[in-house]
Amino acid sequence: MGRRKSKRKPPPKRKAIEPLDTQFNCPFCNHEKSCEVKIDKARLSARITCLVCLEDFQTTINFLSEPIDVYNDWIDACETAN
Ligand SMILES: [Zn+2]
Repeated sequence: MGRRKSKRKPPPKRKAIEPLDTQFNCPFCNHEKSCEVKIDKARLSARITCLVCLEDFQTTINFLSEPIDVYNDWIDACETAN
């Protein structure tokens, strides 16, 4: 009797390990998902940095803020500046 070794399935793609999306498209260099948000809830501040063109933006947050809020703030700030 041949033993039936079940083929090893490739590991499932990582999915939804991060609770929130913290990577966004850069409004400056237009790279996708090149901007990373770091939130410092202790100081109620957040920083978003583009890993490609190194543009960054810092803003104040509140306890409910999420990375997308930081990103939206940045976009707003860009539009105000223009
Ligand atoms: Zn960029």
